[in-house]
Amino acid sequence: MPPADGKYESGRPEMTREAMINIVRVSAVAADKIFQQAAAYLPSETGGILVGYELDANAIITHIISAGPSGQHAPGSFMRDGAYSQVELEKLYDNSEGELNYWGEWHSHPRTFPLPSNVDRSSMAEIAMSQAYGLATPILVICERQQNRGWRLLAFQWCGDSLSPRELVIE
Ligand SMILES: [Zn+2]
Repeated sequence: MPPADGKYESGRPEMTREAMINIVRVSAVAADKIFQQAAAYLPSETGGILVGYELDANAIITHIISAGPSGQHAPGSFMRDGAYSQVELEKLYDNSEGELNYWGEWHSHPRTFPLPSNVDRSSMAEIAMSQAYGLATPILVICERQQNRGWRLLAFQWCGDSLSPRELVIE
C-alpha cells in the first residue's frame, strides 16, 4: 500500500504490514525487563521497542529493546535512542531470518496514569503513517505504576485513526 503522504523514498515501494491483533502476548522475560527498567528510571519515564511475531491474530512479543545510551528520560516524557533501537532491531531481525520484527513501542507511566497521553497518540499516529516502520497498526504497551507501587502492563493498538485497548497476557 502507498504511504500516507503519497511519496516513496526509493524507486520501489516497500511493503507496509497491517495486522489487526486481538491479544498482545508478552513473554515473562520481556515483561520482567520492562518492569525492571521502569523501576530503575523512577521518577522518570523509560521505554523502547516491542519485537516479536504474529500468530493467529496474537502479537507474540518475545523481546523488548531498551531506551539505549542516548535515551532521554524525564518524569513526564521520554525519547528513545533511535540509532541504538535500529541496530538492536536489525540484530533480532537478522538472527531470526526475519521472523522477529518491529511491533511497536513501550514506555513507563511512573505517575499512575493508565491511558495514552495526547503525545502518545500523536507519536503512534506518526509511526503508523511513516513508511520507515513498515507497520500501519503499531502496538503501544504502557507500563503503569499503580497506587500500591506495583506495575502493570496495558496494551493499545493504532487502528485507522485511534488507539484501541487490547487484551494483554504475560506468559
Ligand atoms: Zn505515555
